[in-house]
Amino acid sequence: MEYLGLNEIRERFLSFFESKEHVRLESAPLVPREDASLLLINSGMAPLKKYFLGVETPPGKRVTTCQKCIRTPDIERVGKTARHGTFFEMLGNFSFGDYFKEDATKWAWEFILDDLKIPAERLWVSIYQDDDDAFEIWNKNRGVPAERIVRLGKEDNFWEIGSGPCGPCSEIYYDRGEEYGCDNPNCAVGCDCDRYVEFWNLVFTQFNSDGAGTYTPLEHPNIDTGMGLERLACIMQGVGNLFEVDTVQNIMKHIAKIAGVEYKKNEKTDVSLRVITDHIRSTVFMVGDGVVPMCCAVCCAAPRATECCWASSGRSCLKSATLSLTKI
Ligand SMILES: [Zn+2]
Repeated sequence: MEYLGLNEIRERFLSFFESKEHVRLESAPLVPREDASLLLINSGMAPLKKYFLGVETPPGKRVTTCQKCIRTPDIERVGKTARHGTFFEMLGNFSFGDYFKEDATKWAWEFILDDLKIPAERLWVSIYQDDDDAFEIWNKNRGVPAERIVRLGKEDNFWEIGSGPCGPCSEIYYDRGEEYGCDNPNCAVGCDCDRYVEFWNLVFTQFNSDGAGTYTPLEHPNIDTGMGLERLACIMQGVGNLFEVDTVQNIMKHIAKIAGVEYKKNEKTDVSLRVITDHIRSTVFMVGDGVVPMCCAVCCAAPRATECCWASSGRSCLKSATLSLTKI
């Protein structure tokens, strides 16, 4: 596999889908426009909801984006693990009532195998337990061996966030190898350890949820996919840690320089460096999109204050900051 920089991967993805007649749209701002159900954009699909619901007409039936996203549910784990972060970019290709499972899987496979040249023997897919169509397509049309297709339940393979478009999904995993596995004899796709990395989620949007358990079939099924750019960069760069991806590492190096410390000398310092690197990325992009941090995000961004915040509150500041956002 060829080493690819994060910026190069982003361009490759968007160009690939442009070659499949997708309209490339810019990332929407992190602050949602005319959507009261979300405080911050948390997926590539979120700003496109209006098109999925038919409220507005999309600029094309096929769209591709690289969307800035913020998610804070795992904020307490940021810095302590290799893979948690609050800011990330999500690559996606979308079909508004145009192509469905057949083409979505075909192009995903073509991009992964022919463009990125990830070896097929490293790949696994999961499907929603009742989605026999997806099984047939992966197995017969894409040539994925049956034993490499894992059926998972609703909590893993049925995509929905609050109200809005939702449906069964199919995830693509990269096997980092036995050495990254855990002691569990049943270690497999879906295991919480670092061996199988889920990097691309293909959502087969067939329903609209009212958020209270009612699912109404959409007139035309849609495709919504999401691939974590930093996660894919980890695979293409052979690193197991989001903070070691080229562009993210550059930020950390600069922070270490300002703070006068070195990475990988002391675990406590490393946690702080990772927290500051993550929070700086989130804060900068939020401020850039018009969010005024009320208090804590600012002190979080100041390396010398972080330890005080972190230690005194026992929690990361970004969470309180995102809860007290002011939109301008
Ligand atoms: Zn495991």
